[in-house]
Amino acid sequence: MFIEPYHNQNQRETKVGWIEVICGSMFSGKTEELIRRLNRAKIAKQKVEIFKPALDTRYHAEDIVSHNSLAIRSTPVQAAQEILLMAGDCDVVGIDEAQFIDSEIVEVVSILANHGKRVIIAGLDMDFQGKPFGPMPALMATAEYITKVHAVCVVCGDVAQYSYRKTASQDKVLLGETDSYEARCRRCFQH
Ligand code: ADP
Ligand code: MG
Repeated sequence: MFIEPYHNQNQRETKVGWIEVICGSMFSGKTEELIRRLNRAKIAKQKVEIFKPALDTRYHAEDIVSHNSLAIRSTPVQAAQEILLMAGDCDVVGIDEAQFIDSEIVEVVSILANHGKRVIIAGLDMDFQGKPFGPMPALMATAEYITKVHAVCVVCGDVAQYSYRKTASQDKVLLGETDSYEARCRRCFQH
C-alpha cells in the first residue's frame, strides 16, 4: 500500500516537490492508482494538471481511462517540453502512459519537482518483449518514490508483471487492448 509522502516543509523558505512513479504491466492498475492519487489531491483542494502522450487515443482523445472505466480529464501532448509550458501554477502534475513520451521527460519532471510540484508518473516498465520501456528506467532512477503494481496472470492466476502480445506484430507501439495483449506471469510469458 502506498503511503502518501509527508514532506516537512515547515523549516523551508521555498516549496520543494518530488517525483512518484507507478509502474507495472498492462492491466496492473497503474491508471487506476494514478487517478486515485490525483483525486485525493483534488479533495485536498490542490490544483492538478494531467497529461498523456497524444499517441494514446485508445479510449478517448483527452480523458485518461482505466480498464475498469475510471476516467479523468487530461491534456494530450506531442512532446515532453509541452508539459513544462502547460503545468503553470498547479500543485500536482499527473502523467499517464509515460513510456510513450520522448526522453526529455526526465529533465522536464525534474524541473517541475525542483519548482515545488508533486509529479506522479504512470507507465509500462517493460514492452511486450520484456525489455525496459522508453524513459521509464531513467524516471524510476530519479524518482523519490516507486510503486510497482501487478496484474493477475490470465493463464495461471499468479502475479503477472509482463504484457504478453497475442498478435504477430513486432512493432514496439501497437495500441490495442484486451484483443492484443494479456497479463502473464514470468513462467507463462515464456510460452
Ligand atoms: P493499467 O493502467 O495498468 O493498464 P488499469 O488501471 O487501466 O491498468 O486497469 C486495471 C483494471 O483492469 C483492474 O482493476 C481490472 O478491473 C482490470 N483487469 C483486466 N484484466 C486484468 C488482469 N489480468 N489482472 C488484473 N486486472 C485486470
Ligand atoms: Mg493505464
